Amino acid sequence: MASLFRTPLKALGGIGEKRAEQYHKLGIDTVGDLLRFYPRAYEDWSQTVRIAEARRDEPCCICGTVVQAHVPTRFRGGGKLFKVIVSDGYDYMTITFFNQDYLYQTLSGGGEFLFYGVVKGNSARYEMTSPAVAGLHVGQRIRPIYRQTEKLSSRMIEKSAEKAIAMLPDKINDPIPQAIQREFSVCDLGFAIRNIHFPKDAQALKAARERLVFEELLVLQLGMAMVKGVKRSEVSEPIDKDYTREFFGFLPFEPTNAQKRAVAECVRDMKKDGCPMNRLIQGDVGSGKTAVAAAVCYTAVKNGLQCAFMAPTEILAQQHYRSLTELFKNTNLHIELLTGSCKKSEKQKIYDALSDGTIDILIGTHALITDQVQFKHLGLVVTDEQHRFGVAQRAALLSKGTSPHLMVMSATPIPRTLALMIFGDLDLSVLDELPPGRQLVATYRIDNAKRHRAYGFIRDQIEAGGQAYIVCPLVEKSEIMALQSAQNYRRLLEKSPLADCKTAVLYGSMKPSEKESVMKDFAEGKIDILISTTVIEVGVDVPNANIMLIENAERFGLSQLHQLRGRVGRGSRKSYCLLMSDNQSEAAQERLGILCKTNDGFKVADEDLRLRGPGDFFGSRQHGLPELKTVKLSDMQTVERTKAAALQILAQDRTLSLKEHRPLAFEVDRLFNRVGGQNGLN
Ligand code: ADP
Ligand code: MG
Repeated sequence: MASLFRTPLKALGGIGEKRAEQYHKLGIDTVGDLLRFYPRAYEDWSQTVRIAEARRDEPCCICGTVVQAHVPTRFRGGGKLFKVIVSDGYDYMTITFFNQDYLYQTLSGGGEFLFYGVVKGNSARYEMTSPAVAGLHVGQRIRPIYRQTEKLSSRMIEKSAEKAIAMLPDKINDPIPQAIQREFSVCDLGFAIRNIHFPKDAQALKAARERLVFEELLVLQLGMAMVKGVKRSEVSEPIDKDYTREFFGFLPFEPTNAQKRAVAECVRDMKKDGCPMNRLIQGDVGSGKTAVAAAVCYTAVKNGLQCAFMAPTEILAQQHYRSLTELFKNTNLHIELLTGSCKKSEKQKIYDALSDGTIDILIGTHALITDQVQFKHLGLVVTDEQHRFGVAQRAALLSKGTSPHLMVMSATPIPRTLALMIFGDLDLSVLDELPPGRQLVATYRIDNAKRHRAYGFIRDQIEAGGQAYIVCPLVEKSEIMALQSAQNYRRLLEKSPLADCKTAVLYGSMKPSEKESVMKDFAEGKIDILISTTVIEVGVDVPNANIMLIENAERFGLSQLHQLRGRVGRGSRKSYCLLMSDNQSEAAQERLGILCKTNDGFKVADEDLRLRGPGDFFGSRQHGLPELKTVKLSDMQTVERTKAAALQILAQDRTLSLKEHRPLAFEVDRLFNRVGGQNGLN
């Protein structure tokens, strides 16, 4: 099918410059693209029903003869309508068409037609409004519904798709090798493409969909396996001794049972001969993931290994550096911080101390994956808030050791099967327990009318010794603009009950050294209110801060709001989160209402998933995964099957270079290049 991806859409006929441009907006430039542009839904015209037997509130297909047609008349507001009466041989139904004069011509001639719509009313008078109409020759079939744009209707795409299908050669180079097709009972590509667009019947549609889901997951897994490149399956550096008990002595608190369990699971993994550890630590905000990471690092270092600890932002890296240095202050562990903003000379010192093995734990940002970073004996890689990292970045860090142990930490609860897909063969430890004394964060929706009162409430909290965050969307286009919008916000506060509070501003484009000093002042209580963008979203930990106001809360995703809220409720003070939003729409209010009802990150994620749909959830931005077109969350059981298939294929041909695997290699490229090659497959 590869050649159809080189055949421009215009080859279908009837598509000029303008139309081609409209298709381009849907990501369709070639005949191949169109064939791979699957319908988002279907209308079942394959079964016609009697008018009297039509189900309420659900569209259905009626085959009826037009017995009467009334000439179009104007109605108030300027439109035109006309009515026809049709009979299915048993009952009559009145159909009203609005602004569809052109249909009058067709229908007033009489004859039999298919009407697809919702039947309303009862035996006294059945009715339908503006149904889709087709002649019998269109056939009683399942019709595709495509994602449409303003100028390009689903019906137009349907017509082009029909022509594109006609161009399919009889024998298609199928990306799924025949043997795999047979073994996993999936249909061939030709059948799948024909039936995903124009299903012969419901069963054929099911088979087509299953095959395309299988293909997409197979391609995804092959791609991931190839991106990972480094084979991590055989050797590891097992450690001998567990130093956890000693480490727990350094903690200023008693670890929770969940923390103890997670650490024990990691140590067990690292002691094992064979595969290195590959473990995801999943825990809601505030569950204490950092202490778990520190414990595991300690045992690794005491066993003679070096550790790399990667965080997604400088603020977070600095914070980890601070907390680990504090924890380990009575040990001789050598910890360093490497970020993009380190001076050249500092960097060089770090590189040297790394390669001669002096540094035990290197904490940092993406700077850790640059070429100059060479470890003497990298044995453990920790990544925090992993969904920010792409597959390739993690792989790059891992490749700096022979086969280091890997620990990823995440506050985003993702279904296990999905996690499996993203991280491959990973083990999971869940921190399902918060440290004792944690409070629920009381969360409220408010609107602008309550602004003054809200500020008064924040002032009361500050007077009682607390601190506040105000999260607002600053214009970040340039540093100057960010500063300006921050200044504007400060001005707003000057006329409010918060006028006398000490404020500071924190935003993304600030110099890292400035960011650090602001965070430090806030942590030390020298600042009452931190006005910030979402840079504080991940991981920032200042236990004395107990109230957060989020401006324009409706602009954020639920999980993101939950992460933000997780910055408060970390100490012993009663904590609050105020969600400011003037958006009164029901949808916005429902979303924010969920946060007011629960503090449980897993529930929030579930609701987020329900409201946004799985498509978004798979978005590459969230997980460093390419965007999937067909796969839904409910297809997760197919993951296991495709994994088996992928292993079989790779065992035979690691690089997909055999002739029979060329179509598969083509699809792998296509999928991974949709995200701009950011996963390293070009
Ligand atoms: P997260 O899981 O969100 O990364 P952190 O590791 O930042 O959470 O921990 C949140 C806060 O809880 C920190 O101030 C940390 O010192 C504290 N903490 C962690 N574990 C415990 C515990 N077992 N008991 C009391 N406080 C704890
Ligand atoms: Mg954290």
